[in-house]
Parts: sequence; C-alpha cells; structure tokens
Amino acid sequence: MQKNMKTSVIANEKIDNLKLIRAGKIILDLQQELKKYIDKGYGPFLAAVYDSNGNLVAKAANNVVDKSCSNNHAEINAIKLAEKKLGNYDLSPYNLSIYVTSEPCMMCLGAIMWSGIKAIYYGVPSERVTKITGFDEGFKQNWYNEFKKRGITVYGQIETDAGEQVLKDYVAHGHTVYKPKR
Ligand SMILES: [Zn+2]
Repeated sequence: MQKNMKTSVIANEKIDNLKLIRAGKIILDLQQELKKYIDKGYGPFLAAVYDSNGNLVAKAANNVVDKSCSNNHAEINAIKLAEKKLGNYDLSPYNLSIYVTSEPCMMCLGAIMWSGIKAIYYGVPSERVTKITGFDEGFKQNWYNEFKKRGITVYGQIETDAGEQVLKDYVAHGHTVYKPKR
C-alpha cells in the first residue's frame, strides 16, 4: 500500500501524480454533479467509466429506490451501460477506468472484478460512508492486494472533503438510507 502523506490518498501501486491529478479533477466534478442527481431522487453515489484517452464511456448514479432494485448501485449501472455501448461483456480490451464518488461496496467490487475494468479511483472511503450515512458497505478484507494480483490498479481517498460534504447533506436533507432490516 502506497500513501501520499499530503493528501491521504492511498494506492496499490507507486502513486503516479498525473493519474492522481486527472482523478482528482474527475472526482470533484462527479461530486458536484452528484448533488443534482440527489435533487432528482437518486441515491448519493455516482460512477463514470473512462477510456485511457480520457473519453467518457458511461456514467450512472445509484437508483436503488427509484427502480426498486437493491443492486442498482452507481458502479453496476455504469458498467452495464459501458458493456451495452461496447457490445461486450468483457471490457478488458478497452483499458477502462472507473471513477466513483465513494469506495465501492463489496457487491460493486465483485462487479468491477468481473467486468474487466483495469483501474478504480474513488473518493470517500467506506468507513466514512458508513459513519456518515449508516449504509452497510460490507466486508472487504485486503481488497487492494487482491485487486493488484488481478492487475487492477486502485487509488482511494481522493478529494474526500468534497465527497463527505455531499453525503452529510444527503442525510441532513432526510433522503432515504435504504437497507434491509437486520
Ligand atoms: Zn455498491
């Protein structure tokens, strides 16, 4: 695990500043855009898939509540759109990255692994998401290393302040924190 002391960013490779700067810009833009999605009734997570030239392939927010579907997380919605657009269940030939406003939950990590996406960049870490909102992000022991073994790059905790504020506002406005009863 690599750490950038100034920004608290963590990664499963030596931190590449160019990748980090690009990811910071994209994730800040996604956090801004996410506010508009929340106003329209979406859940508080947004994901975007980009190719290696910086072209957007697919973008989607979480619509669990609106569509009455517990697995309609932003990452899964975005992956489905990308696969449909490219006409392929295997995204590995396209060298794609997924950018997400918060750390993917245990379900979405599985979906990303199966998709052939090559890199993950995310904002708010799961422990903060859980603390702020009460969503149960699951258990994901050692996943940075597991993804590294599979050739998938991970950069996390990018522009967390902006992301945490969006989540705090979501809760403050009384939006639904959907989850099964335990
Ligand atoms: Zn998820």
